Parts: sequence; C-alpha cells; structure tokens
Amino acid sequence: MATSEQLRIVIVGGVAGGASAATRARRVNANAKITLIERGPSVSFANCGLPYHVGGEIASRDSLIVATPKLFRERFGIDVQTGTEAIKINRDNKTVVVRRTDGSIESIPYDRLILSPGAEPFIPPFVDTSLRNVSTMWSLGDLDSVMKIVDSVTSPRCVVIGGGFVGLEVAEQLAHRGLECTLIQKAPQVLQTLDAEMAKPLVEALEQGGVNVKLNTSCQRITAEGDLARAIETDQGTIPADLIISAVGVRPRIKLAQEAGLAIGDRGGVKVDSFMRTSDSNIFAVGDCVEYQHRVLGRPALVPLAGPANRAGRIAGTMAAGGTCEPMRDVLGTSVIRIFNTTAASTGLTQAMCRRENLVHRAIYIQAAHHASYFPGAESLTLKLIYTPEGKILGGQCVGGDGVDKRIDVIATAISLGGTVHDLAGLDLAYAPPYGSAKDPVHMAAFVACNDLAGAPKIVAPDIDLSDFQVVDVRSPKELQALPLPGAIHLPVDSIIHDHSQLDPHRPTVTVCHSGKRGHVAASILQSLGFADVANLTGGMAVRSQCEVADKQAVS
Ligand code: FAD
Repeated sequence: MATSEQLRIVIVGGVAGGASAATRARRVNANAKITLIERGPSVSFANCGLPYHVGGEIASRDSLIVATPKLFRERFGIDVQTGTEAIKINRDNKTVVVRRTDGSIESIPYDRLILSPGAEPFIPPFVDTSLRNVSTMWSLGDLDSVMKIVDSVTSPRCVVIGGGFVGLEVAEQLAHRGLECTLIQKAPQVLQTLDAEMAKPLVEALEQGGVNVKLNTSCQRITAEGDLARAIETDQGTIPADLIISAVGVRPRIKLAQEAGLAIGDRGGVKVDSFMRTSDSNIFAVGDCVEYQHRVLGRPALVPLAGPANRAGRIAGTMAAGGTCEPMRDVLGTSVIRIFNTTAASTGLTQAMCRRENLVHRAIYIQAAHHASYFPGAESLTLKLIYTPEGKILGGQCVGGDGVDKRIDVIATAISLGGTVHDLAGLDLAYAPPYGSAKDPVHMAAFVACNDLAGAPKIVAPDIDLSDFQVVDVRSPKELQALPLPGAIHLPVDSIIHDHSQLDPHRPTVTVCHSGKRGHVAASILQSLGFADVANLTGGMAVRSQCEVADKQAVS
C-alpha cells in the first residue's frame, strides 16, 4: 500500500525498456511504490535469444528468463503483475486500467507512468497465425508454439518469410538444427541495414549452411487443411511447409498512447523528448514504441533495437523516480548479426539510405585481415565507410568473421562524437598480433577515405560501368583466371612501373586488383607518371563480384 508521500511509478511492459526502467527507478528512489505490469507470463526475458533456443545453441528455455518476478520483488521491492494488460490510460485522474487474465478489470493509480510495450510483428494479410503451425517469433509464446512443431513433427519442412534480422537468425537456427528450411524474401537482398553487396555474403552463408534462399519472391497465399498450413504459394511456385514463421518486420505498439491522446511522430512512434518524456510530462515512453532522434539523419527515426531500449529505460526510470541524468544520446541503429561463420554489422546510414535522403556522400571499401595476417587464424573482412565530401562519417558496414563487431563499434563511437575520416585515421587503437594490426582495418579504411578526399588518387565505385575506361588489371594471372575481367589490360602491379608504355596516358584509366590495395599502388604510380585521369576501383574485384554490374566488363 502506498503511503501518502510515496511516489507511485507504474511501468507498462516488463522486458527490455520496462525492466531497465523499473530497476533503475528503484536504485534512484528507495521509497517509491513501483509497479511493473506485463501482459505476458514472464518479465525480463531475452527476446534476442529466442532464435538460438530453436536451434539448440541455447539449450535451456529457462536461461532465456533473465530475471523473475520473485527477484524483482525480493531484491528491488518491485510489484510485478504478469498476465496483466494495460488497456487504457486515464490522464485526468492518473490511472491505468488493466485487465487480468481472469477477465477482471482494475484501475492502478500513478504519479509517473512509463510505457515500454515494445513493437508488434507486422502480419501480412496472407498470413493466418491462427493456424497451429504458423507463427511469428516475438515472444516466449511464439517460441513455444514453434518448438512444439519442431519437436513433434518428423523432419518438418520450415519456411521463414522475411529477410530481416529475426528471419535470418531463425532460418540459420532451423538449419543449424538440421531442418529443411526455405527463406523467402520479397526484396532482391536481405537485411536493409546493409547495402546489397555487403548483404550478399550473408545469403551465401545461409546457402552454404543449407538454407534455400529465395530472393525477389513474393508470398501470396498459405494453403491449409483444417488448422494446419500445408504450403505457401509464391509468385515463383508453391513451397510445401510444415512450419511457417512470419518475420516481415515490426511496427511500434502505440495504441495505448494514441488513445490517451499522447503525441505520435511522423514515423508512427510515440513522440518523446531527450529525457523520454511524452507530450504529457508525467508519462514517459521508451523502446520500440518511440521515435528516437537519429544522429546522422538529424530527425526522429524508428530503431527497434535492444540497446536504445535499455538506455532509454534507464533514463526514464531515473527521471520518473525524481532523479537527474544526462539526456538520451542520438541513436545510429548500430547492429550486428551472425549467420553461421559470417558476421555482418553496420552503423549509421547505408549508401542506399544516403541516396533516398539525397545526401551527397562518398564510399570506399577495404579488405583486410581481422588480426595480423602472419598470426594463425587471420580471417578476411570487408569494411565499407561512407562519408560526406568534407569527411564527416555517415555510416559503416563490415562483413567477415571475427572482429567485425569491434570495427563497427569503433566507427559508431566516432560517428557519435561527430568524427571525420581524419579522426578515424588518427585513433590510437589497441594492437597485438592476435587482436589486430598496427594499421587496423579501421585505420586502413580511413586512410583510403582520406586519400580519396585528397584525390590521391581518385577512386571509383566497384559497380561502375567500365566500358569507357582504359582498365588496367594489376592482379596475378592466377587471380585473373579465378575471376576474369574481360576487356581489361593485364599488367601485374610489380611490372607497372616498367611496362606502362603500352598504356595510353591520355585516356581515362581505372586500375583494378582483388581488394583495391594494389590498384591504389598502381593508380598512384600512373598518376605520378603523368596519367591525366586515373582512378582506382575501390574494393576491387572482391566487391565488384558482389555487385550488380550490367556493363560489358562485368565479372564473368
Ligand atoms: P519489449 O522488450 O518487446 O517488451 C515489451 C513488453 O511489453 C512485452 O513483453 C509485451 O508483452 C508487453 N506489453 C505490450 N503491451 C502491453 C500492455 N498493454 N500491457 C502490459 N504489457 C504489455 N535487438 C537487438 O538490438 N539485437 C538483437 O540481436 C535482437 N534480436 C532480437 C531477436 C528477436 C527474436 C526479437 C523478437 C527481438 C530482437 N531484438 C534485438 C529487438 C529487441 O528485443 C527489442 O528492440 C527490445 O526488446 C525492445 O524493448 P521494449 O522494452 O521496447 O519492448
């Protein structure tokens, strides 16, 4: 029972943002009466871990429960009410109306209210989740219904719809479990947080892992017998299915806020200030239901990720409890995914986003070993850096194996601090052979970007139409055989300084190698030899082979 002086804090939603807010509020205010309302049966479960239980990598379902209502009660004195759904906010008398699983209705008074109801999976019109073997993957309940099928049906044929984070992770885990799995993606690429050529290795990794990936494929209808789906019809044919998981994206859960008259932003999320206050100063909102200020776009954006939800929950918990704190920093949408042995990560804007936003930008690629190449176990990674013509970093993407996450986190830090490619080039990063190189891949990318800005020499995009250029391929004969570039003049990098007389110094020239490194050396030599217009193909054939290239000098 609350005493008359007790501050009453009610939190709706008991997972990422809500649980963070509740425990933070307690640490700030030992006297507050804190009530955490969760409509599901559990609080503080690891939704990010759900796919890994499907594949058995997380063997025990119990380990997905990070904290129990008992722990909240005993350690923090927080009243957790599961099976309790908030159905209405009465702002006039400051109460939240809740409905229990037994159908009873109650009003809970608050002085401060924090909303963290998350997002809801978007269900396309052709998907009927009332069928027993059709599910989303967003809650423990979803996980349980998927596990029921994979545990009870012999060799179930699984179909995952949607090539975003959740779809990819679930497909990987189904294949990891040894099940037949088809991933259907409407777009020509998976994962829109990456540019197409950087996302391609993920498709290759899925295919190598046994997933049948169908890009450019549109689902039309699920055919069912009784309460069981039997197949999914697409514009590319029918796929038999014993299990269908729909993962085509999410949208912010705003009904409660909207019906209470709280301001909703242009992107469809609850509008908040940098202290997570909604348009009602006694109500805070955090997590997937809100719009965050985006650091690079300079405007609000939906970023349904766990990091921002947890940080915002901490801020809302502090503020609601009467404390003070630093405001929420702008977000970048930094994310990472592992598909078998391939990891891809990104931060800030992709090139596709830059184009959509009409942002003038430049982009370079490098390939490098994730640690000293002479140290055993070095794995190659590809790093893409996007920046303004003034050098301000707009985004980064990295794909490879080990060390991908570290590079993107460094770039995310630099962007957060308003950094330029010159700042990145000057970073003092940790180095020993098992961990990196004295010139880390981050430095190498920054050096290439700095060279590009200095025009020393120019670079051209890996998907450029090479038809009108004098193309100088500086790779070895063996490399040429493996990945030919028809129409190019072959002049290995080691002979270019001696044999350049066969080249026309007056023709616009592009140098090409495997990764862009030797191409840069060749272009620099040709430039200093007086070639009027010479550029290096950034990323080399490694990246060009991942691009859609329509010209005569396409990869063959
Ligand atoms: P949630 O954590 O979803 O919590 C919302 C809670 O509110 C839910 O439990 C819901 O039942 C409850 N609720 C909703 N409405 C009401 C109501 N009216 N009354 C009471 N309770 C209500 N993010 C990453 O950054 N990295 C990852 O690797 C990653 N992987 C993911 C994998 C999966 C399968 C899923 C589902 C998500 C993943 N995410 C990941 C996203 C991340 O989990 C979310 O961004 C984060 O949980 C959002 O926090 P939230 O508090 O806004 O919502």
